[in-house]
Amino acid sequence: MLDRRSFIGGVAALPFAPRVAHAFSMGDAELITISDGSIALPISLPKDKPGEELAALTSRFGISEGDAPARPLNVTLWRNGDRTVLVDAGSGTQFLPTAGELFENLDAAGVAPEDITDVVFTHGHPDHLWGILDDFDEIAFPNAALHMGQAELDYWMDPATVESLPENRQMFAVGATRRLEAMVDNLSTFNDGDEVVPGLTAVATPGHTPGHVSFLAEKGGTSAMILGDAVVNAHLNFARPGWLSGGDQNPELAAQTRVGLLAELAKTEMLAIGFHLPGNGIGRVETDQDGYMFVAEDA
Ligand SMILES: [Zn+2]
Repeated sequence: MLDRRSFIGGVAALPFAPRVAHAFSMGDAELITISDGSIALPISLPKDKPGEELAALTSRFGISEGDAPARPLNVTLWRNGDRTVLVDAGSGTQFLPTAGELFENLDAAGVAPEDITDVVFTHGHPDHLWGILDDFDEIAFPNAALHMGQAELDYWMDPATVESLPENRQMFAVGATRRLEAMVDNLSTFNDGDEVVPGLTAVATPGHTPGHVSFLAEKGGTSAMILGDAVVNAHLNFARPGWLSGGDQNPELAAQTRVGLLAELAKTEMLAIGFHLPGNGIGRVETDQDGYMFVAEDA
């Protein structure tokens, strides 16, 4: 398990900008989250839940229907031996004015785009995929091997996907297909359970998107789960993981995935990193009343 000393050691290893990047040592590997900015994620409360229980939770967390609080965009960097791996590529400059800060924050952490040896994707949503192309439509990480789960790639390359999405999300599919086509020469696919790059194993966590994966990082007897968007918010997704959640494409399947995942993370006390979770996304899952809570590891 990671201790406080290795955490502090990791932060000290970053020359600049500890606010936008947090690091953990795992054996001789290092796991760092780097900010790509923020995104306003609308809150959509379940319609089918007991009013009293829901009211207690919304007041506890200070949330209400239709709010769209700014949430972090935490891209994970995995440094292990001669590999410098990005988990997701961020938003790039064509998605949101509040996003696209990954490159300057990588630079502040002493990492150039040319240094990235691999990019592994949790899923194909814009804030995870669109940063793979730069403003000239070139691959932003020129030396990187690119890796996406087979099921996720199939979904976004299927011409029927765009029509199956609500109108306000159809641009997600158009944008994903265009980028995946540009990536084809460097792209390979993986399946559930594959060790995609040394120390990172794919764990199928479907529902947020059909082929969504998380990555289990393991090195030096320590482990951490890079969740992607398998768990999106730090309130209802933890307190009631089985409740349906607004941003998931298949809400029932996503809820089923969260229930299993959070039980496992609470049991193992493994470090968890969430793309949109607070405290640079790094924390642990603890049981709390009838559900769980996210305990962020603040510096
Ligand atoms: Zn997503």
